[in-house]
Amino acid sequence: MYKIIMLGTGNGGTMDLYNTCFAVQNEKGNFLVDTGGSNEIIKRLSQVGIDYKSIRHIFISHSHTDHILGLFWYFKRISIDALHGYVKEKINVYCNDEVYTAIKEVAKYILPKELNDVIYDIVEFKVLSDGDKYEINGVEYEFFDILAKGNKQFGFKCEFDKIKFAFLGDETLKPALYNKIENYDYVMHEAFCLDAEENIFHAYEKNHSTTKSVSEVMNKLNIKNLILYHTEESHKEKRKQFYTNEAQEYFNGNIIVPDDLETIKIIDNSSL
Ligand SMILES: [Zn+2]
Repeated sequence: MYKIIMLGTGNGGTMDLYNTCFAVQNEKGNFLVDTGGSNEIIKRLSQVGIDYKSIRHIFISHSHTDHILGLFWYFKRISIDALHGYVKEKINVYCNDEVYTAIKEVAKYILPKELNDVIYDIVEFKVLSDGDKYEINGVEYEFFDILAKGNKQFGFKCEFDKIKFAFLGDETLKPALYNKIENYDYVMHEAFCLDAEENIFHAYEKNHSTTKSVSEVMNKLNIKNLILYHTEESHKEKRKQFYTNEAQEYFNGNIIVPDDLETIKIIDNSSL
């Protein structure tokens, strides 16, 4: 059984929701995708029963604050553990070259020297090129450049027991990449705000989508399950309902608008 455990579902400016990040969990372990923007990442992991010490694979999609900064708090913890001899296995961090440069440069100035040195003993950086494939916890992931207008950003696609799954980062999917995910079972795509509130939140000028705009495209691409995340937080507990309602008008498949700390079970519902 594969599960997506949402540690955060908010966009880059949220305060009550944690910034979007999640763990892909199967019986072989957890694969952490992005880290949010603060030390909250350690608490969130523990709230869903994941010991940060058990994580062996981390992917950082791009270098924006709301995706990368939690990594430094994790590095601080894990490097102290390593100094005490508690870290026995390598930790793999997958990222593009721009993210790698950002990590190296920032870590140099914000971590004490002895911790910074230890990071390079315990972490193996896998610097990604477009199309690189890695096996993580028994699954082959293909990482690809999402052709972001902002900082260089990667997403991935994979199969969980033949269920086709894609994570598309936090920008609107470019038409040049539509063929990569057509007919997929599960797609994770950002939805910055409701279409009715574009004039308040300005999704488009930030290279983001509204719930309507992404739902229309994913419907044309015949996606079965659409997971929407990286949203604003003004609707509090009504968010799931409002976003689902708007998406349903334009998307015929299954819509999932997860809350923070919600678990999504990946099931084969293609025959429904
Ligand atoms: Zn973001």
